[in-house]
Amino acid sequence: MIYLDNAATTKLKRSALDAMLPCFSENFANPSAIHLAAGKARRAVEEARAVFAEGLGCAEDEIYFTSGGTESDNWAIVGTAEAYGNKGRHIITQKTEHHAVLNTCEALKKKGFEVTYLDVDEYGVLSPESVEKALRHDTILVSVMAANNETGVMQKISEIGKLAHKNKSVFHTDAVQAFGHVKLNVKDMNIDLLSASAHKIGGPKGTGLLYKSYDIMLSPLIYGGGQERNMRSGTENVPGAAGFAAAFKDRDDEDKVRELKCRLSDRILNEIAGTHINGGTKDTLPGILNVSIDGVKGESIIMRLSSLGIYASTGSACTSRSGESSHVLKAMGFGKERCDSSVRFSLCGDNTTKEIDEAAEALKEIVSDLRNILK
Ligand code: PLP
Repeated sequence: MIYLDNAATTKLKRSALDAMLPCFSENFANPSAIHLAAGKARRAVEEARAVFAEGLGCAEDEIYFTSGGTESDNWAIVGTAEAYGNKGRHIITQKTEHHAVLNTCEALKKKGFEVTYLDVDEYGVLSPESVEKALRHDTILVSVMAANNETGVMQKISEIGKLAHKNKSVFHTDAVQAFGHVKLNVKDMNIDLLSASAHKIGGPKGTGLLYKSYDIMLSPLIYGGGQERNMRSGTENVPGAAGFAAAFKDRDDEDKVRELKCRLSDRILNEIAGTHINGGTKDTLPGILNVSIDGVKGESIIMRLSSLGIYASTGSACTSRSGESSHVLKAMGFGKERCDSSVRFSLCGDNTTKEIDEAAEALKEIVSDLRNILK
């Protein structure tokens, strides 16, 4: 199998599994208990927290573990709306966000919040100037993703965060795809809230984190026994936190992954006529390549590749079954044909040059075959 769908999810890293296994067997106690066994489990969670605090350049108490990127996004947005709802009811985001952000904003609209969805340019980039123009005295939150899950396009987070702060608005970034793939420093980048997820970097599914700056207020999303300093209740997922931290420490070599992606994009552009990279290759994540291929359906390519044991996807895993065109490519101004002929290859550090060459060869043959059938 050649797995090129790492933006959907990754294989659990051996290092993550090794860190998790003892938390299921000998170190299984509830961290909230007061006996010695609980202390060991608590230490595993706190050691994991310290890894992320160091990685993001923040204090340990600014990291909260969650059940994944979706919960972190929901919490950041709903929690800010609740905490600052008396100050204002305007939220700014952009059209290419993940549905974890878009649908949370839609839910808030039903509760009387006003949401501005900003446009991006043809490269998928949101201009800081358009954020500046959209900011109002009652804007409580600006939420802009660090990098897009379909195209890998990275946004100008530091600049946008700076503008939000100048307006005294909270700045949230969904960094689910960027975290662990490119360096992120929350203080340097003016980030108040950051969402991340373990399963995008070789950690386990169902584990994530939310960074929350000391400087802002946030209401809890989940109430209960008061875990995570009364901010996120529920018995701690000790294996999840340990596995997430181990995967982060063992993260992929950014340069190696980018080199493989460049090889794949060069081969596709040079050897298959009528191919277009969506989002370009500049200022994108190391591992995500989104390409449209004239005259063929992305879905047909995915099925053919799949029958050869080569796994890629069209758009995001969450929406690819809905049959709808990608909202991300649409927002970049592309018509139905370009949207529906897109394929996303997402690479990881385990991929090899040989795999990339095999995938490129297979793609070449499939495209030629499909084009012949459609002639
Ligand atoms: N945000 C982005 C940009 C994503 O790509 C994803 C997952 O695909 C999520 C949020 C949701 O993360 P999770 O699967 O951990 O809930």
